[in-house]
Amino acid sequence: MMEASLSVITCDKCGEPMIKGQDTVVIAEGKIANSNEELDFEGRGVRYACHLGCWNGMEDDPWDGGVIRY
Ligand SMILES: [Zn+2]
Repeated sequence: MMEASLSVITCDKCGEPMIKGQDTVVIAEGKIANSNEELDFEGRGVRYACHLGCWNGMEDDPWDGGVIRY
C-alpha cells in the first residue's frame, strides 16, 4: 500500500474537488527504496492527480518539456 499526501485537492482535469472514496489517478515523484520481487517506493510528492474517470492519458503533458509521453 502506498500513501501520498496531496497539496492540491482538486482534479487536474476537471477542476472539481476529489473527495473521499473516489477513484483517482495519481502520479507521484519519489525514489525506489528497495528492489526485490517488489519495488518499495518512497514518495516525495505528487506531480499530478485526477479522477479515474477524467484520466485519458498524458496528452496534456503536465511536465515542462515532457518527461513521459504515450
Ligand atoms: Zn475530474
